[in-house]
Amino acid sequence: MLSPLFFLPLWYKINKTNAMKKLFFMLGALMLSIVSQAATINKIDPPYWYAGLQHHELQLMVYGNDIGFSQVSTDYPGVEITNTVTLESRNYLLVYLNIKDAKPGKMQLTFKKDNQELKQEYELKARTKKGEEHVGFDSSDVLYLLMPDRFANGDESNDNIKGMSDYKVDRTNPNGRHGGDMKGIEQHLDYFTDLGVTALWFTPVLENDMRGGSYHGYATTDYYKVDPRFGSNEEYKQLIAKAHQKGMKVVMDMIFNHCGSEHLWLKDMPSRDWFNHSDYQENFVQTNYRLTPVVDPYASKHDFDRMANGWFVRTMPDLNQNNPHVMTYLLQTSIWWVEYADIDGIRMDTYPYADYQAMSQWMYIINKEYPNFNVVGESWVIEPAFTAWFQKDSKSAKPQNSNLTTVMDFSFFDKVNIAKKEQSDGQGRGLDRIYNNFVYDFLYPNPLSVLTFIENHDTDRFLEEGSDLASLKQAMTMLLTVPRIPQLYYGTEVLMNGVKTKSDGYVRKDFPGGWKGDKQNAFTAAGRTAAQNECFDFYKTILHWRQGNKVISEGSMTHFLVENSVYAYARQLNGKTVFVMLNGSDKETTANLSIYAEILQGHTTAKDVLTGKTIQLGKELKMQPRETLLLEL
Ligand code: CA
Repeated sequence: MLSPLFFLPLWYKINKTNAMKKLFFMLGALMLSIVSQAATINKIDPPYWYAGLQHHELQLMVYGNDIGFSQVSTDYPGVEITNTVTLESRNYLLVYLNIKDAKPGKMQLTFKKDNQELKQEYELKARTKKGEEHVGFDSSDVLYLLMPDRFANGDESNDNIKGMSDYKVDRTNPNGRHGGDMKGIEQHLDYFTDLGVTALWFTPVLENDMRGGSYHGYATTDYYKVDPRFGSNEEYKQLIAKAHQKGMKVVMDMIFNHCGSEHLWLKDMPSRDWFNHSDYQENFVQTNYRLTPVVDPYASKHDFDRMANGWFVRTMPDLNQNNPHVMTYLLQTSIWWVEYADIDGIRMDTYPYADYQAMSQWMYIINKEYPNFNVVGESWVIEPAFTAWFQKDSKSAKPQNSNLTTVMDFSFFDKVNIAKKEQSDGQGRGLDRIYNNFVYDFLYPNPLSVLTFIENHDTDRFLEEGSDLASLKQAMTMLLTVPRIPQLYYGTEVLMNGVKTKSDGYVRKDFPGGWKGDKQNAFTAAGRTAAQNECFDFYKTILHWRQGNKVISEGSMTHFLVENSVYAYARQLNGKTVFVMLNGSDKETTANLSIYAEILQGHTTAKDVLTGKTIQLGKELKMQPRETLLLEL
């Protein structure tokens, strides 16, 4: 029997003129009507599911030749088939089940079409944890962001996997695959605990069987499979279990806005409304990357549609989250990875590009299922008002609560990177920008649940092409002591630098020592240079001091207008005070301590956490150029 897939190559060839295409479709329809196909089942998503979830509706996406017109039944106790949906492609069948009263076990599904009967086993597994036991990251954590392809190659056997589109490792190409993997991360878990971070966020790990540039992982081709170049699903799960044993959490990067153009859904599109602008071959529409129409009370429909429904790039087709079948599919992937791999949080890519109401409903379901979990949404807009609009319980959000617990503060990132090059010698300059950033915290329903950073995989590295440790210490001290969830980017602790001018690959270099034969091994003190060790030790000191420090993770914030180039703020809790003083200029300055009397409360000395030295608190305090003091009173 001929499968419709047989015609695909031919279709691509003749897809040159509309007349030819119409003729071809007519021929195809005629063929299908006279050819009675034997149905097959090639794949079911999710591959298995879990009994006992509050969210007890289950969608099975059954894929196989001509499976779409089958009748499906089961006699498994507690399972009721509530709906079956045939899509435009007859190779998909969506089966909706109510599994509220089902116990773990293996059910038999029977698919009947004409005189043919297919039996398929489907497993409902037992959950290993209750929903509330999945505890997400919060302001007591420090996230360490790394790119699995660029961190360490612990398994050379998975470097080149034949049959995958982009299968050759090429470390000479900054934008090629370099061979890093799960095993490499696992081999360095002690490095993270030594450094003092408490959570790891990997850029996406799911299969990206894409031609060229697949190393970053942002073009998913299978939502239920870790990319084999990184390892197996089981290896990912084991890595997380080992991280947990060492007291570290793991955050999974997910993308609901788009998939990769090599996904099966593009080769055999379930339906035209599975994607926005699914007529991309004749009429490609790209997003304008302008996120303001989501929150703008005066936004035109034209601008909004272009932003939300345009494709991110040609290789990242825009999924239609307005289609409930699409959104249910995506929702289930997130639940599945929580249950299967025991992840401790989700970082959702390109959050505002996806349909707002669908995402709000997704977050509502996740928050209900996992009340102590956490999700951070990426929205690259530098105005605090925009970011705050998106946080759960914002009074500005329309038409409904976003339910998004954590938002990303790109404003701090922006300002800290401008301030480092300026003198703090007037209003709106240097550290006055940071002061100003925190003024607008009144907009956030929960400032402590805002994630911030000084750099990430999409930006220049903080050090750019230099190694200015004084500025880095200042930015890092702020990052780790302000009321936020801090996120670090791999390698800066050993002075990794780079800018995006040439390409993204230059800010995503390999961690030195992660590959056999590397000239340097920056994972060990002996392998690092003196300058790298000075930086690493600074990180280590402040990160270990921050662990479990409730003054930082829960305390109040009081800050002062910049005076004599000094920005100062206090974090306080239960009679304990942490006082941060920063000289935001390239010159020595004198801080007038009488300004801070309400915080210093007559204390005449304080310990500087960064150096261990005792600082005398008289009427004035001399500060060195770009000096940072982290004082405990
Ligand atoms: Ca490898």
